[in-house]
Amino acid sequence: MAATRIDGKALAAKLKENVRAEAAVLPRKPGLAVILVGDDPASRVYVTSKRKDCEECGFYSEEYALPAETTQKQLLELVAELNGRADIDGILVQLPLPKGLDEREVLLAIDPTKDVDCFHPYNVGQLTIGTPIFQPCTPGGVMEMLREYHIDPAGKRCVVLGRSNIVGKPMALLLLHAHGTVVTCHSKTPDLKELAASADILVSAVGKTGLVTADMVKEGAVVIDVAMNRNQAGKLCGDVCFEEAAAKASYITPVPGGVGPMTRAMLMKNTLTAAKLHQGV
Ligand code: NAP
Repeated sequence: MAATRIDGKALAAKLKENVRAEAAVLPRKPGLAVILVGDDPASRVYVTSKRKDCEECGFYSEEYALPAETTQKQLLELVAELNGRADIDGILVQLPLPKGLDEREVLLAIDPTKDVDCFHPYNVGQLTIGTPIFQPCTPGGVMEMLREYHIDPAGKRCVVLGRSNIVGKPMALLLLHAHGTVVTCHSKTPDLKELAASADILVSAVGKTGLVTADMVKEGAVVIDVAMNRNQAGKLCGDVCFEEAAAKASYITPVPGGVGPMTRAMLMKNTLTAAKLHQGV
């Protein structure tokens, strides 16, 4: 059986189009401020793509490119200023921050109603009890994909590889809230292969090229590859050995063109949600 490729690029374009239409009728444009500290080239690429997404969605956006020597105090002052701005609905601090800056304190300083990345402990708590303002962007994007392709996690065995705060943990929570039976695996999981092979829905968010081989994919499983790795040739790839997994799966996401574009689209959706909240719409 050849798997259906889940087209994240097309779905993200549709999602952004809907966001654009909703934003156009708001009294005020949604506004997103992106803060980048230091000169990490990968982070710079992400920030540029966020600006382009804002333009596509008709949002107002601001970028703060701060030098690596920026102090914690300066960063916190900028966050406080943006918290107080009526034209800014979302504040995104590009992670990781350079050494010496306290990421946790910075994320805590962001007004939770402007925390469009859904990293603030308040929003993580709301997510845990099932009443989130925002969907965490990457796992939220995965759930949108499942919905679009009529894949219902209810009653399914869902195995998540990875337990980071950004992807693995919130992914497991969203699948649990969608009534999946969820197993979360990590670097200390001894029987990873067997657990993965038992999954109806397998989500890999580890960051290791070639980790998920055909023997880890159950016949007919849905395979979601969150990872964004570089192979030896420098080409973007995921954790999953795509061709061999696709031969057994029912649905599979490619890398690139799968989860990545959905993450970006979800950030726009969250900024729209924040703008509606701030404008009482
Ligand atoms: P991370 O913070 O490094 O977390 C990786 C997780 O994988 C950890 O929980 C780690 O376990 C686990 N792990 C490491 N080796 C393992 C192994 N051999 N078997 C099982 N689990 C193992 O990474 P992340 O931020 O979650 O990102 C994961 C991947 O997703 C990366 O490739 C990243 O680039 C990608 N990503 C993609 C998007 C997107 O939009 N598509 C967004 C975010 C991240 P421990 O906890 O035990 O260390």
